[in-house]
Parts: sequence; structure tokens; C-alpha cells
Amino acid sequence: MNDAPKISNLAAIDAAHHLHPFSDMKQLNAKGTRIIERAEGVFIYDSTGKRYLDAFAGLWCVNVGYGRTSIAEAARRQMEELPYYNSFFGTTTPPATLLAQKIASHTGGKLNRIFFTNSGSEATDTWFRIARVYWKALGKPEKTEVIARKNGYHGSTVAGASLGGMKLMHEQGNLPIEGVHHIGQPYWYAEGGDLTPDEFGLKVARELEAKIDELGEDRVAAFVAEPIQGAGGVIIPPDTYWPKIARICKARNILLVSDEVICGFGRLGSWFGYQHFGIEPDLAPIAKGLSSGYLPIGGVMVSDRVADVMVNELGEFYHGFTYSGHPVCAAAALENIRIIEDEGLVERVRDDIGPYFAAAWKSLEDHEVVGQAESVGLMGAVQLAADKATRRRYSKPDDIGTLVRNHCVENGVILRATGDRMLASPALTISRSEVDQVVEKLRHALDHLRDTVT
Ligand code: PLP
Repeated sequence: MNDAPKISNLAAIDAAHHLHPFSDMKQLNAKGTRIIERAEGVFIYDSTGKRYLDAFAGLWCVNVGYGRTSIAEAARRQMEELPYYNSFFGTTTPPATLLAQKIASHTGGKLNRIFFTNSGSEATDTWFRIARVYWKALGKPEKTEVIARKNGYHGSTVAGASLGGMKLMHEQGNLPIEGVHHIGQPYWYAEGGDLTPDEFGLKVARELEAKIDELGEDRVAAFVAEPIQGAGGVIIPPDTYWPKIARICKARNILLVSDEVICGFGRLGSWFGYQHFGIEPDLAPIAKGLSSGYLPIGGVMVSDRVADVMVNELGEFYHGFTYSGHPVCAAAALENIRIIEDEGLVERVRDDIGPYFAAAWKSLEDHEVVGQAESVGLMGAVQLAADKATRRRYSKPDDIGTLVRNHCVENGVILRATGDRMLASPALTISRSEVDQVVEKLRHALDHLRDTVT
């Protein structure tokens, strides 16, 4: 336990000096910041001593749960031995190299090289550049355009926010940058109309074909999407969607990029989300679960198809970060992956806790204000509905989601709301009784919504 003296006026100091990401600072300062001081297992504790069950694993990242002293040990040992060296200009460090090998061993065979970054956003910038240099090296420099999806999320750098399909982010920064285009998302509940989910999955996948036709096949470098769109509301695509997308990318010769920043490292009961959906990406950004958030590290997994060109045709790739493959972060990530392997956490999600969570989560569908409750592995969404029969949504989805979320938090469970969808993404170590607690607290919050809003 940390025995540093407790600072009593931390909230005031925070209000005076700390600008928070994705926060309305005026509102935050009026309300006061929640200060999280410590954590263990799936629980976090705030500065008043209140305990919360974190059903969101921090920000979709603490896959092995909190309190893993062996990760701290691995980082400490590495800091003592070699706290830093870079991987520029023909050098490496043992943890960076071994981590690349370890990640490759779980990709299923064709993604054998890793380019390291510090975050998912940097991973996005990195594959964006790789996609363009790949085509250029192949003598097709005009293949530069990238297609992404409305409501997708790929990070907060300029390229990340551009590729993401978040309108509010675009509006704040004159985004997207040139060369980025968006097609629709496979959000059947809200946008599927009278189509069956499978019909709708094909319809939105065909938007990719239409966009390629509009831009011209020889100008399109890549298509990117999250296997399951996370921040955009845990949008689980209909079964027809991914196979069709993969066929289009192959037929039209454009790179398929699977953003694995959330879905990677066990969340869906597979090492990577693309394995769950049975597709083979050319590039795949990773972060979050790579180190379970214990230290910042990300990367891009690069297929042999692309890496062979980078290695044999490109010459120098003028790209990299001071901390690419940081040895301490890499050592922590290696220990994190060892835990996932040794505790069989991917299999646990696939065969045990994932199915248990799915059944418990699905049971919420009997509630009057729930239109749909779906999940894959340990990633779930509850769609709120004003009228279940007609799939009519509440008129102020953000307010409704916030109301349910706040009720959960007040009652000791951290969930997230994206509009009128309630999202869960707990640590892969969550127990059955902890899953029950999450579902029970969410059910109470849904009762509260039913009883207070008409
Ligand atoms: N890609 C996806 C799918 C994400 O969910 C995120 C972050 O939530 C990112 C990229 C960006 O990662 P980071 O916040 O580490 O920059």
C-alpha cells in the first residue's frame, strides 16, 4: 500500500491545474473530480474509501485485473537492468524483441512483425503511414485514400480523430484530414429498419464497394474498422458483415485493417477480434490489453504481405517514436501476456465466464426499457428503448444513458454509456458472482429509468 501522506485538497488542486481528456472542465470542476486511489482484482477505491466494481476494466484495458505484483516486479527488474534504450538505427533491447515474437505467436500465422508505439492512437497513425508507403513501394503512389466508418473510434491524434467517425471530434478540429472517407456502421437496432440483421449486415458492407467505386479502386489504400465497434457503442455486427467486408477488400485489392485496440488480448474469447470473426487482416493496431494498462504500450501487427514489401522494397521507413518498444513497457507487456497464457484467460472467456456473462446479460432483455442485450466474450451492450415492440428510442438518448450510468456508479458499479447504450467490458478475471452483481445493479438502474422517465 502507498504510504505517502494523503493530500486533503487534491480536488481543488486538480480543478486549478489539470485539464482532463474527454471532459467538460466547467461541469467537472463544479461537480468535483472523483479521485481513484487504489485497486485490487476488479475493484477500485476512491478517496472517500468507497469501493466500485469496475465493469469497464479502466478504459477497456485492465484485462488481467488490478493488483498484479508480478507485472510491477517485471517492470522494476527491467528498470534496474536497462531503464531505456531505443530501437532506432539498428538497435533493440531484449524485451522489445521477445515481445514482438510473443505477440506474433498468437496471431495465427500471417502477422509476424510488430511495429511498437506508445498508444492506440499512435498505432493508428503508424498503420496509416504503413498503408501508404506499402502501395508507394509497389509503384502505386496514387493509392492513398483510406475508408473508415461513421461512429468508429481510432484514437485522438489528428489521423486517429480523422479516421474515427465521431462528428463532435471532427467539428472541433476541422477534421477529417484529406484522404479519409467514412461509410455507415453495422448498427442494426437503430438503422436496420425493416431488414433482418443479416440483410442489413450485407447492405452496410456493400457501402464499402460503393465508396471504392466512387473513389476509384486504384486510389484506395485501405479500409479500417474495429471488429466490434467499442467507443461507438459496442456495435456487434450481424454475421454477414465481416465475411462480406473481407471479400470486398480482397476482390478490390485494398488493405484490410482490423483495429484490435479493444478486441485484442482475449476480450472476445480469442486472442484477437479478427479470429473471432474468421477474417485475416493485413494490418492490426493493438494497445490496451497488450499491457493491461499497467504501462503504456501499443503497436501495429503487420502481415507478411505488407512486411515483405517494407523489408525488401521500401528502404528506410521514416517513422518512429522515442519510446517505440520501450524496454520497461515491453517487459510489463511480456509478463501480462504470460499471465493471460498461464491462467488460460482467453479460453476462460471463450468457454466459461464469457458464456456465463452472455446468459446473465441477455436476461436483461426481459426488462421494459431494454430493446436488446447482446455480448461477445466479455464485451456487452444494453440498448435502451422507449418502446420495445417498435424499437423506438428515447428522444434524449445521451440524458437517458447518463441517468442509468450515474445510478450504477452511485451504487458501486462502473459501466459506461454511449448515448442510449450501456456498455460493459470487465477484466477477463471477473468471477461469476461479480458478473451477477454487475447485472443486478444495472437492473436496478433500469428500474429507476422506467420509474422516473416516461
Ligand atoms: N482504437 C480503438 C478501437 C480504441 O478504442 C482506442 C481507445 O480507446 C484507440 C484506438 C486509441 O487508443 P489510445 O487511447 O491508447 O491512444
